[in-house]
Amino acid sequence: MSTVFKAATAVESADVGTAAHVGTSHIALEHVAKDFETRSGSLQAVADVSLAVAPGEFVSLLGPSGCGKSTLLRIMAGLTPPTSGSVSIAGGRPVDAQREKRVGMVFQQPALMPWRTVLANVALPLEVNRRGANATLRQSEIVELLSLVGLAEFGRAYPYQLSGGMQQRVAIARALVFNPDILLMDEPFGALDEITRDQMRYELLRIWSAARKTVVFVTHSIAEAIILSDRIAVMSARPGAVREVLEVRLPRPRGEQLESSPEFLRMAEHLKALLRPAGASIPGA
Ligand code: ADP
Ligand code: MG
Repeated sequence: MSTVFKAATAVESADVGTAAHVGTSHIALEHVAKDFETRSGSLQAVADVSLAVAPGEFVSLLGPSGCGKSTLLRIMAGLTPPTSGSVSIAGGRPVDAQREKRVGMVFQQPALMPWRTVLANVALPLEVNRRGANATLRQSEIVELLSLVGLAEFGRAYPYQLSGGMQQRVAIARALVFNPDILLMDEPFGALDEITRDQMRYELLRIWSAARKTVVFVTHSIAEAIILSDRIAVMSARPGAVREVLEVRLPRPRGEQLESSPEFLRMAEHLKALLRPAGASIPGA
C-alpha cells in the first residue's frame, strides 16, 4: 500500500462500537454551541451539539438548510471557534489539527484554478503550504491520487475539459494531498445534476474504502446519507441541535440495488418524518 493511501493505524485497531473507542474518538464535540453577532443582535446557529466520531467512521450530518451544518463543520476544521463547549480533533485542538494537515475539506464548489492542469490543481496545497508532513509528495504520488479518484488519464487536462462530477473528484484528490486522517465534506455533490450526484455517492464509497479516512459528510439528501454513512446525525432546524443519531445497518460494500431494499426504504421514511417541520402534516393523511 502506498504512503498516500495508508490508513491511520488507529483505524485498524479501533474497537468501534464499544465503550473502548470513546477515548480514541477522532472527532469529539461536547456541548458545542455557536452564536453569531449580527446587526440585529445575537443569532444562535448551533445549540448544544455533542457528537463523537471514531477513526475510520463515516458520519453524515443531515438537516434542513440553515440548521448550522456548515457552521459545525467549520468549527471541526478550526476555521471558527465555538462560543461554548469543547472540540477535540485527532486528540487536539481543531486549529492544531488544521495546521498539522490532518484535516482535508471538500466544499460544494470544486474551486479549481482554471489556468492550472488537473495535476497542478491537486498539487496546489503543497505549493501554498510546504510545512505539511507530505510537502514533498512526488508527481507519481499525485498521479496515484488521481487514479484513486478515477482520473488517472486526466492529469494534463484543464478543469473546463471535465464534467462537474470529475471536477469534484479533483477537489477530493486535492483534499487528500496531505494524506489527512479526517475528511470534512460540506454538501460536495450539492451543485451536481441529479444523475451525476447519484453516481458520485458510489464513487465516494469506493474512494473511502480505499483511503479509509474518518469522514463527516454534510448533506440534505436522505438517500445520500443512508447509502454512505455508518451513522447519521439528524439535525433540527435552527438553532441546530442533533435530534437523533441513527446507525445504518446496511451491509457494505453498498451498491445501487440497496436503494430499493426494505431496510433502506424504512430508514428513508423515518428520516423524512424526522426532517418534516414540526406541525407540518401530510395532506390527506
Ligand atoms: P447550513 O449549513 O445548515 O445551511 P449554516 O451553518 O450555514 O447552515 O448557518 C446556520 C445559521 O447561521 C444560518 O441562519 C446562517 O444565516 C447563520 N450564519 C452562518 N454563518 C454566519 C456568520 N458568519 N454570521 C452570521 N450568521 C451566520
Ligand atoms: Mg451549509
